[in-house]
Amino acid sequence: MTTTTDIPEDLRKRQEQLLGTLSTGLYIDGTWREAASGKRFDVEDPATGEVIATVADAGAEDALAALDAAHRAQEGWARTPPRERSEILRRAFELLTDRAEDVALLMTLEMGKPLAESRGEVSYGAEFLRWFAEEAVRTPGRYSVAPDGKSRVLVTKRPVGPSVLITPWNFPLAMGTRKIGPALAAGSTVVLKPARLTPLTSLLLAEVLADGGVPPGVVNVVPTTTAGDTTGPLLADPRTRKLSFTGSTEVGRSLLADAAGQVLRTSMELGGNAPFLVFPDADLDAAVAGAMAAKFRNGGEACTAANRFLVHQDVAEEFTARLVEQVRQITMGPGTAEGVGLGPLVEAKQRQKVADLVDDAVANGAQVLLGGQVPDGPGWFYPATVLTGAGPDALLHRQEIFGPVVSITTFADEAEAVRMANDTELGLISFVFTTSLARGLRMAEVLQTGMLGLNSGVISNPAAPFGGVKQSGLGREGSHEGIEEYLETVYVGIADPHA
Ligand code: NAP
Repeated sequence: MTTTTDIPEDLRKRQEQLLGTLSTGLYIDGTWREAASGKRFDVEDPATGEVIATVADAGAEDALAALDAAHRAQEGWARTPPRERSEILRRAFELLTDRAEDVALLMTLEMGKPLAESRGEVSYGAEFLRWFAEEAVRTPGRYSVAPDGKSRVLVTKRPVGPSVLITPWNFPLAMGTRKIGPALAAGSTVVLKPARLTPLTSLLLAEVLADGGVPPGVVNVVPTTTAGDTTGPLLADPRTRKLSFTGSTEVGRSLLADAAGQVLRTSMELGGNAPFLVFPDADLDAAVAGAMAAKFRNGGEACTAANRFLVHQDVAEEFTARLVEQVRQITMGPGTAEGVGLGPLVEAKQRQKVADLVDDAVANGAQVLLGGQVPDGPGWFYPATVLTGAGPDALLHRQEIFGPVVSITTFADEAEAVRMANDTELGLISFVFTTSLARGLRMAEVLQTGMLGLNSGVISNPAAPFGGVKQSGLGREGSHEGIEEYLETVYVGIADPHA
């Protein structure tokens, strides 16, 4: 693996200009304001550890002001004709696409991923606005004759109402648009609390949404360093009707308990522990390409990242050798530098966690084929690492690695592969590489997973329902299911019109 720090001069200038003009207050009721406490917090570039901006630090008082605004705007937004809501979302999609380079640069600066990947996320994230612009005008309803013929069943949908959205740092744009798009399409207003480590992208998104015509109060953004204290009062306030959370299973569990107080509608996109199964009949070129995508996209900091590589014993040696060759070619460096395929991890704590998991795997018998050492120098870099033979007690089989570490273990037959794959409390995504269609379909039936990548290492798609089973979550984002999360079903029973 090579490293580089070569950042083009024009990018440095654009960075200065972008950070100099970005709004860094709280966005509440269509205006930018400081926190009631007057506090601000630092946002750092994980490639250098340097502070790149300071952002207003919301407290409970600010969050409640945001909820006031969302509540006031709710009725008007719900009554706004679906076509108008749709066109606002569509304009926002276009503006976001026009500003793709700014958004991508900002994301790389605050989160660390390579610029090419940030550009990919802008296009993926913007697509949720376009998709839900199209869904806004397709909210279904139905009318039917009851089985006994004595009444009529009318079923209609209405917006759930003010929704609290909490997002993680790993996809700073897409995790926001994947919630805001369907909420606005459905006619619900929102208060967004972005992750402390990556608030800038959400602030730029608020600017873009306002430019697209989203009325004051419909979208409010409250970055904070005190997540629980700031969002707790929102979950306890009867004006809030919905919580949509993306983040770790641990925090998700505790927010579910908080949401129970008001029986809030909840959507939970939680952690993953994806198995990546390579069967002996797999096309190994496709499996290696899939493994590179499933593991190294976002530096492994993805809920969908392959966490456990389970490879049939007959092809394990060949698969491993080919994968190591590919991993060796990755260039590590700041995400803004030319040709970088692996940026830094998001913060020191995350890097320590990855390093500890690798040390623990080694203590449990793993052999290090590549990487495995924290490099010297600034930033939270961790090299692309390949391990084989970690024993069953190694923690990385149970925990999300959330870093660029491949751990390969072998299986002897399909039954063992399925048992190993399902041996986790999580069930977000699984990857299966096989040239047998029957085996692929069988896996779709027996693996405990919300999503399956069949001969594919990346399957996220705004037109597909994203979400997990078991402790990976509740509900789905994207596709037709996505808007349902922000709609209530209302049934009207009608007396027989002929009676
Ligand atoms: P996290 O620690 O659970 O944080 C997620 C969000 O929740 C952040 O905005 C965080 O704020 C906030 N938060 C933390 N404690 C809170 C509390 N007590 N009350 C209210 N909000 C609270 O997760 P993360 O480290 O940011 O993200 C990584 C995790 O997200 C991984 O487990 C990953 O698998 C999961 N993820 C899941 C999906 C999916 O679609 N299933 C997608 C992406 C990521 P702070 O930033 O201030 O801590």
